[in-house]
Amino acid sequence: MTVVIITEKPDASLRISNALAESKINARKSKYGVPYYEFERNGKKHIVLCAVGHLFSLKQSKRGSEYPIFDIKWVPSFESRKAAKFTERYFKTIEMKGKKGKEYYIACDYDNEGSTIGYNVLRFICDKDDAKRMKFSTLTKTDLIKAYEEASEHLDFNNIEAGIARHFLDFYYGVNISRAFISAIKKGSKRFAILSTGRVQGPTLTMLSEREKEIQKFKPIPYWHIQLILLFNELEITALHEKEKIWEKKEAEKIFEECKDGKAVVDDIKKREYKQKPPTPFNITTLQTEAYRLFGYSPKQTLSIAQQLYTRAYISYPRTSSEKLPPQIGYREILKAMSETKKYSKFCKELLTKKTLVPTQGKRTDSAHEAIHPTIEPPKSTKKLKSHEQRIYDLVCRRFLAVFGDDAIRETVNLKIDINGNKFLASGKRTVEKGWVKYYGPFTNFREIIFPDLKKGDKLDVKSIDLLDKETLPPSRYSQASIIKEMEKRGLGTRATRANILQTLYDRNYIIDRSIRVTALGTGVAETIRKYVPDFADEKLTKTFEESLEKIMEGKIKKEKILDKAKKALIKISDEFRENEYKIGKELSKALIETQDNASILGKCPSCDKELKILYSPKTKKNFVGCTGYKDGCKSVYPLPGSALIKKTGKVCDKCKTPIIIVIRKRRRSFSMCLDPTCETKANWGKKRSSKK
Ligand SMILES: [Zn+2]
Ligand SMILES: [Zn+2]
Repeated sequence: MTVVIITEKPDASLRISNALAESKINARKSKYGVPYYEFERNGKKHIVLCAVGHLFSLKQSKRGSEYPIFDIKWVPSFESRKAAKFTERYFKTIEMKGKKGKEYYIACDYDNEGSTIGYNVLRFICDKDDAKRMKFSTLTKTDLIKAYEEASEHLDFNNIEAGIARHFLDFYYGVNISRAFISAIKKGSKRFAILSTGRVQGPTLTMLSEREKEIQKFKPIPYWHIQLILLFNELEITALHEKEKIWEKKEAEKIFEECKDGKAVVDDIKKREYKQKPPTPFNITTLQTEAYRLFGYSPKQTLSIAQQLYTRAYISYPRTSSEKLPPQIGYREILKAMSETKKYSKFCKELLTKKTLVPTQGKRTDSAHEAIHPTIEPPKSTKKLKSHEQRIYDLVCRRFLAVFGDDAIRETVNLKIDINGNKFLASGKRTVEKGWVKYYGPFTNFREIIFPDLKKGDKLDVKSIDLLDKETLPPSRYSQASIIKEMEKRGLGTRATRANILQTLYDRNYIIDRSIRVTALGTGVAETIRKYVPDFADEKLTKTFEESLEKIMEGKIKKEKILDKAKKALIKISDEFRENEYKIGKELSKALIETQDNASILGKCPSCDKELKILYSPKTKKNFVGCTGYKDGCKSVYPLPGSALIKKTGKVCDKCKTPIIIVIRKRRRSFSMCLDPTCETKANWGKKRSSKK
């Protein structure tokens, strides 16, 4: 009799085979070139087959582009999407090898997605409707054997139902609302543009555009600072006048005059010690936030690096929202394994001498997985990891060590300085006892401002006193990390989808830049949503669905109930939208044109001061830069490098006065240059390149 095991990805299937095989594995390849593995265990023949993520996707049952549509079904992805053509080989390999099993195991990642992937393979390819389910959080040998031995007799149907419901909901909302937008643009302007939006995209874009509006309408207010730099035993102290912001210039000048030649004396000094608890274990959001802060990695990048490390069994499953580390993961075993790595060895031994190990934990939980942690199978040598993998792995390891560390003890010093009756304040901070900071080391973001030992009445030298012009600042822009954190806080999207949703907003040109700006198009779409599909801008809707999915997962409600509710809501939204289609189309196309124009206008023409614009020449089939003043006789044209993305900088070349652009090419370092190819800044371009070789 044959046992068939279905895994989610090719590398997982090798790992699982290695863990379960009692003797040599027979590694084979199907005639489609897809690897699969055969081995013996408990006297039974096992065959391990792999999917490659989703092999099925949802598709409209009939043809047509009307909205709303709800008549959809699962079809093999390779048949419906060009981009998924590569999945065909995997599909056919399972079809060929996976039909004759006596017993079936699903060993996909243990979550909604993994369970849905496995279930679709099982019912649509293997013609079975149930199987055993292996549940694991790491791909280490120990955990995989345990997951196999203790596999549940039936599939995790609650996870499957929730996974399927999510796919249906996303399709209902994504496809129908996007179709409504496309149809509106066509009616309003005869243009064609893909303007997608989705269940979570809508509220996220709304949130970003609200912030953009606040920033746009912000008016800075001037104020003044009086800053004092003092010296004591060669140590510098920076202090500010106690009225931190002085709104009247006259008042500021008066105080400045009073203090200018005065003597500085310590008026008061207060010291306070406090405990700083260790950080909480990483879930995907906190890992993404921290990796962005430390290394500048986008959330999407961090997720994929972490996924790599998980697949190689170095860390536990990363798509988790849990901030808890249950004792079952075996704290001591993990520390012992980690101590094999030289740089953690000392720390691990130190922690292992503790009688009890109790991790600091956060509030968030996850029904399927614990917080992210290193496994008992560390890489033999971290040097074998790529540098970005090394960084994320180091971060995960040090975080794991830190959560078991002692509180750090910090001290704040608040200093009050008197000059001619005027008070200045300074505060210092230092670490008295390192505690967990020892382990978290370079990743700790403590600021150390160390003050000399002072007492009341001490006289200080005034190094400088300055009257500084300042302005109030607008609300800050979201970064990729802070928006993801905010989405988590508001219950928008899931741990697995947030990074992709953000990427889609970039891809659609709704937002640009690292410090996120909303384009005219993004604002237009957000406004349209707000005016005509307000439910869609509202986070309540998607949050309600998110909670419902959670309930399906807990087995408290049936997915049909949620899907019916969504259908009703969408029929109402669609009817309202259709009534306003023409008007919406006009507004959206205005925003669309503005954004497209904005991106293509590079700056001013040096000869006639009109705008220089990226244009397309049908003759040469190339983009070039032309002057919008050509009708008035301006002949300025400049070539552009081929197959590159051109971005404007708003800067102008000192020498030739043409705009400076950034040239971004795939797999090559981007660079900036001015438009004029004969400009003297480029005089030794060729030479520079050859001398490097
Ligand atoms: Zn010109
Ligand atoms: Zn130049």
